[in-house]
Amino acid sequence: MRNEIVLVVDDDPEHLSLVERYVSSFGLQCKSAGSGFEAIENLKTENISLVVTDMVMPGMDGMELLKKIKRHHPHIDVIVMTGYSEQYSYIDVIQAGATDFIAKPFKRDEFSAKLDRAFRERDLLSELRESKEKAEAASRTKTDFLCTISHELKTPMNGILGFTWLLSNADLPPKEMEYVQLLGQSSNRLMKLINQILDFSALEARTSSTKPHHFHLKDVFEEIFVAAQPRAEAKGLLLHHEIDEFLLERVLFGDQFALQQILYNLTDNAIKFADSGQIDITVKKSMVLSGDTVELQFSIKDQGCGIHKEKQDAIFEPFTQAEGYMTRKHEGAGLGLAICAKLVDMMNGEIWLESRVGEGSVFYFSAQMHMA
Ligand code: ADP
Repeated sequence: MRNEIVLVVDDDPEHLSLVERYVSSFGLQCKSAGSGFEAIENLKTENISLVVTDMVMPGMDGMELLKKIKRHHPHIDVIVMTGYSEQYSYIDVIQAGATDFIAKPFKRDEFSAKLDRAFRERDLLSELRESKEKAEAASRTKTDFLCTISHELKTPMNGILGFTWLLSNADLPPKEMEYVQLLGQSSNRLMKLINQILDFSALEARTSSTKPHHFHLKDVFEEIFVAAQPRAEAKGLLLHHEIDEFLLERVLFGDQFALQQILYNLTDNAIKFADSGQIDITVKKSMVLSGDTVELQFSIKDQGCGIHKEKQDAIFEPFTQAEGYMTRKHEGAGLGLAICAKLVDMMNGEIWLESRVGEGSVFYFSAQMHMA
């Protein structure tokens, strides 16, 4: 037997007592009210789970009562009893927030099925809500943990990098110098990973937001080239960029550093996954949204290994790589694109790709900016 109280509201005493009998016969506690006003008073004092109300009543009709219940007691389910050819349709009743409706006259079994369904759905919803709350709490704990641990790791890592740099400038025998260089490479890789985890967890926890200021696109591209050119050259790759004439001289207002980070990650991947050819980075204005807001579309094209069609959707998820763990040739934790996706989202844009295995990939993203 359920420990629930059902409130039946009907101005017709005969129908009211019939429905009352039905409710009690299902082992539920029943309260009754002869009008909408009486029902409202009952709701203030009793712990009601479900209201079954007639539609046509003098003073306050079922629709008005339903709206009042949904406004002041949104957790209470309401089943509306409607007669044929009434002012309100089934759609009106459901849109106003009713759980269900039942056409009068109805049989005991039909009513029992409606009550059963209302309670089942409520149980299911509360289970779902509970699991969602648990999952969100677990995810918050995980994000906090990642944030704290990566922050704590950075301090000793800075020490290791600093002393490695001092050692690399010391007068060491060749063998030891080689060890120091290897130590430097590994430390830099580890630092990159720590920074990625920190960035990702901050974005996941939404503790970072866009920090807009005025900038020129050509400065963004210059930064990317200074950072990426040496690696591209070392692999014999040609870096090429093209900025839409319209944008070249414009002063933009937006998050320059988020934009730089996305472009850098995508260019870095293009260099990592290509062994020959050219890498083209382009930007054009895709549309003027309103007044001074424009949407820019960026593309980063390489002639590298490409990505299998079935892997393409998943690669924006964190810790995901297109290559299998055992067959991987390249380093990385699968966080770069997940960070890009979150940053793009922060700039009200979208990120997507076109890729063919053996031919190369083009990563596109859009971002909204203001023109100064
Ligand atoms: P990682 O740091 O592991 O490279 P990313 O999130 O940047 O992580 O990329 C995820 C995966 O997507 C990569 O491991 C790779 O399999 C695939 N990928 C990304 N960019 C390219 C590219 N330009 N060409 C081919 N594969 C790519």
